[in-house]
Amino acid sequence: MPELPEVETIKRGLSDKIVGQKITDIEILWHKSFIGKKEDVIGADVADIVRRAKVIQIKLSNNLNLLFHLKMTGQIIHEHKVKNDGEIIDFAGGHPSHDWHAKLPNSNTRIIFTFDDGSKLFFNDMRKFGWCKVLTNEEINAIYKKDYGLEPLDENFTVEYLLEKAKRIPNRNIKQFLMDQTIAAGMGNIYTDETLFDAKISPLRKIKDIKISEWKNLISSMQKVLTLGIKYGGTTDSDYVNIDGKKGGMQDYLKVYHRHNQFCPNSCGGKITQIRIGGRGTHWCPNCQK
Ligand SMILES: [Zn+2]
Repeated sequence: MPELPEVETIKRGLSDKIVGQKITDIEILWHKSFIGKKEDVIGADVADIVRRAKVIQIKLSNNLNLLFHLKMTGQIIHEHKVKNDGEIIDFAGGHPSHDWHAKLPNSNTRIIFTFDDGSKLFFNDMRKFGWCKVLTNEEINAIYKKDYGLEPLDENFTVEYLLEKAKRIPNRNIKQFLMDQTIAAGMGNIYTDETLFDAKISPLRKIKDIKISEWKNLISSMQKVLTLGIKYGGTTDSDYVNIDGKKGGMQDYLKVYHRHNQFCPNSCGGKITQIRIGGRGTHWCPNCQK
């Protein structure tokens, strides 16, 4: 599932392409992917785009919003074809990395948005768990309040904040604690494993046993790996591509995620191990992480 850096990358790319554009048509190819009335949205301009946790909120000029969750396999790809001396040039997605999104729309396309500059936005979702919902500002704010804690890159994401969250669940392990969206919004499996490796903390540690100095390290490690992830345009594991249909580059900088059986990059002599915690594959170095 795309995590904070991947969704942030899509949001930034999308902002460059469609802010200021009018939505002139919406074609729904799989009705369960679009929740709302398309008539409420057609004719509105894209006013702004924001990210919260792993969702993308497209703010419209009529005070409605399109809220996207990509879930496991969702993709948002922008394509702009313009005529140049009679020849059609495909600006975005021009050199896609996989055949199955080389041509748009394809068998995974669920929704097609058309804008007044002629460009199109394709919502592809192979497994159909993702969605696009038409929501008012009040409805969105209620969802954010109920489902999400602070963003790890927020200045209020402090040791005090985490200790307050930890009070109710002292026996929770740190891996599951950091992946809880009501605690660290936008974190997922990849960046949690990388954070724990960077902070040298075992994913199995109970949170009641974590010292103040370790909480501080956790926060700075989390901010470090997320910032790096954003810098390299996210991690392409399998289904994630950016707004132009291209891969991210963060996979080349991951130290433990999906690196099991490889030697630890800290040269401790140990190997990266994979275990399951809360049903999720967890990658770590038992030598370095205590
Ligand atoms: Zn190690």
